[in-house]
Amino acid sequence: MKKYILAIDQGTTSSRTVLFNDKGVNCAVSQRETKQIYPKHGWVEQDAENIYKTQLKTLREVVKTANLNPVQIGAIGITNQRETTVVWHKKTGKPIYNAIVWQDVRTSKWCQKLQKAGKEKIIKEKTGLVLDSYFSATKIKWILDTIPNARTQAKNNELLFGTIDTWLLWKMTKGKIHATDYSNASRTLLFNIHTLNWDEELLDLFDIPKSLLPQVKPSSYHFGDFKFEKINIPITGIAGDQQAALFGQACFKKGDTKNTYGTGCFLLMNTGEKAKPSKNGLLTTIAWGLNHKVYYALEGSVFIGGAAIKWLRDGLQLIKNAAESELFASKVKEESSVYVVPAFAGLGAPFWDMDARGAIFGLTQDTNKNHLIKATLESIAYRSKDLILAMESDSNIKLANLNVDGGASANGFLMQFQADILNTIVKRAKVIESTALGAAYLAGIEIGLWTQEEIISMQEDEVSFYPKMSKSKREQLYKNWLKAVKRSMHWED
Ligand code: ADP
Repeated sequence: MKKYILAIDQGTTSSRTVLFNDKGVNCAVSQRETKQIYPKHGWVEQDAENIYKTQLKTLREVVKTANLNPVQIGAIGITNQRETTVVWHKKTGKPIYNAIVWQDVRTSKWCQKLQKAGKEKIIKEKTGLVLDSYFSATKIKWILDTIPNARTQAKNNELLFGTIDTWLLWKMTKGKIHATDYSNASRTLLFNIHTLNWDEELLDLFDIPKSLLPQVKPSSYHFGDFKFEKINIPITGIAGDQQAALFGQACFKKGDTKNTYGTGCFLLMNTGEKAKPSKNGLLTTIAWGLNHKVYYALEGSVFIGGAAIKWLRDGLQLIKNAAESELFASKVKEESSVYVVPAFAGLGAPFWDMDARGAIFGLTQDTNKNHLIKATLESIAYRSKDLILAMESDSNIKLANLNVDGGASANGFLMQFQADILNTIVKRAKVIESTALGAAYLAGIEIGLWTQEEIISMQEDEVSFYPKMSKSKREQLYKNWLKAVKRSMHWED
């Protein structure tokens, strides 16, 4: 009877609830946009109460659309935008400030100060992260330092902090449960990913009282219950969005890797039970906690992924919609020597050059728009390869297959080129909404709905792309790409 799982997927721009049946098949979805607030240049906030309200609405809508009796829902899983920070009052339940979104850079000067003070090394060793305003710690400190009375209230044990998962869990359990999972905790800059504890030295450094912090639990765990139409539904899965997508793609083994091609691309490689430090500027993070063990991942991102296709559409107006890019790129039959380096906002790992800027190389008299479109699609695959090479080098693990999802993974030309340039099979998931599926899988494991082995057998690849390119061509193309990257670097001085 209890054969459905509700996955709550709270993203940066929307709240969604997805209903899965016991075969992991998506049966209903409801989505509502959430509002972003931009009080100043570089500041990004959201109304935390509104996040909860929209999330609850989508949950109700899904149950209604599917005509479900709540007793049929076995469990709820939560996945969420990571790092976004909420601080609220324990008694009133009211946030003392808007949620500060991961994209917000208001604390970057302070991060630079800490870097100058030589704190980066210890932070990296303990948390696997780089010292950046992106993560939660400096956002919490900003709230405590800025909001009147907040410091005193924090000292008096009156405040709570949470990332979005924690906030939703606390609201859904009517203030009974203040907890998070390992994957979300590992994005705060406060959690020691080796000892699996909030780190006293880091708490001191960021001046954050421990009493604010949630309990940290495995990702598949009975966190608490959500009372829905008089029925108690257990909340049994939590993971940050990228880790949930890795789980949703059933990347359970060491070396299993997924790439999500959205606005940017997010690559995660499962490195098993060992945290692998990176020499290439990647992040070491916790993938999930499961079966009394913690699994780690290496993470890297391409800043401009699908956004480059949006640039072709809106900036250059070469295409009417993103899907058209495949058609035009496929028209180029001859060997093309055009390279687009989409370093619009600098280059991330493994180059880390914020002064790099976008560039186009190899133009000749006969270059036409198709060449530019093709080269732009290829750039997404080249940047993904840059990261995968860095991951292989950091982990000493050879990539097995690449599992893909996200909006731009619909592009067959891009996926084939990715397989060719990596010389690896690219497997596109049937459900390209792997994030919600991952949360559902985690929740279902805890209630005994399925096991990891069963999940693997439930996976259906929609299409696999097999590498066809010759070794010599692959090496030549990638060599030229690296030459193009080099020439785009240090443009701003
Ligand atoms: P996000 O979750 O970051 O908003 P999505 O997973 O929804 O991203 O993917 C949207 C991105 O994918 C957009 O940047 C869009 O340009 C790109 N995109 C969507 N469809 C295609 C396609 N068929 N080919 C290439 N890019 C695409």
